[in-house]
Amino acid sequence: MIVARTAAELDSALAKFPNQKVGFVPTMGALHEGHLSLIELAKKQCPITVVSIFVNPLQFAKGEDFEKYPRLVEKDIELLNQKDVTILFLPEPDVIYPNGSEITHHAGPVGEKFEGQQRPGHFDGMLTVVARLFELVQPDVAVFGEKDAQQLALVKQLAGGQKFAGKQVEIVAGPTIRSASGLALSSRNRYLSASELQVANSIPSALDAASKGTSVKEVLALAKATLHPEARLDYLELVDDTFEPVGPDFQGVCLLIIACRIGSTRLLDNRRIRIERSA
Ligand code: AMP
Repeated sequence: MIVARTAAELDSALAKFPNQKVGFVPTMGALHEGHLSLIELAKKQCPITVVSIFVNPLQFAKGEDFEKYPRLVEKDIELLNQKDVTILFLPEPDVIYPNGSEITHHAGPVGEKFEGQQRPGHFDGMLTVVARLFELVQPDVAVFGEKDAQQLALVKQLAGGQKFAGKQVEIVAGPTIRSASGLALSSRNRYLSASELQVANSIPSALDAASKGTSVKEVLALAKATLHPEARLDYLELVDDTFEPVGPDFQGVCLLIIACRIGSTRLLDNRRIRIERSA
């Protein structure tokens, strides 16, 4: 695996593989099986895979865990070598933001709800770094996790609306990888104590219980009733593709999204749900 730390190093690494399809997986590191599954998806479509590890200061709101975010680069490099990744892009902030950390992309209405409301500026910072990474890596395909559903929707919107280095980037979505208990894998799960982990395990249980509901009201009630009382809800909602909450009479497929705080850790999850009957 080639490790590129600057734009010039990345360019010369990419130049070794002219005219080959490039699959890209952007991450913030502290890699787990969820990240590795996205790499597998990239490899299915592209002979060249680029993974980036960059903890993007612009997407952390004030008071969030930017300083504390787990940084485990050596272990990550080992995992990426085992996966036969072609290039690891490991930039410092001045490589990504040579002109200072100015926001270049705004998320718009979808970015103002739910995660965007809870984490002001988060999606603008995320889109700014993704756009910059796309310009530098020039991928044909980029893979993102369904776990971060609102992020995925915004990245699709970004890639549908503009080309990067003259290329259209195809966005591929990877399913959420879970632990044996059903908890969605997350770099932040390592913050959880044993008792907090028990509380966190009620998130997938709540999604399972909810999927047995048949109306909007029933689905939400089942999820709430199953979630451990020590999980402090930021939001629990059934939304459509534009992240608008569906009405009480909605029938069809929608997305149940949940974010909650357990101790000082914030966790997200979601599940596609079919609503069979109106209220
Ligand atoms: P992060 O390092 O948390 O920024 O995540 C990098 C990518 O991995 C994003 O596209 C996430 O949606 C994706 N991801 C995070 N957790 C999981 C998971 N449990 N399963 C699949 N993809 C994931």
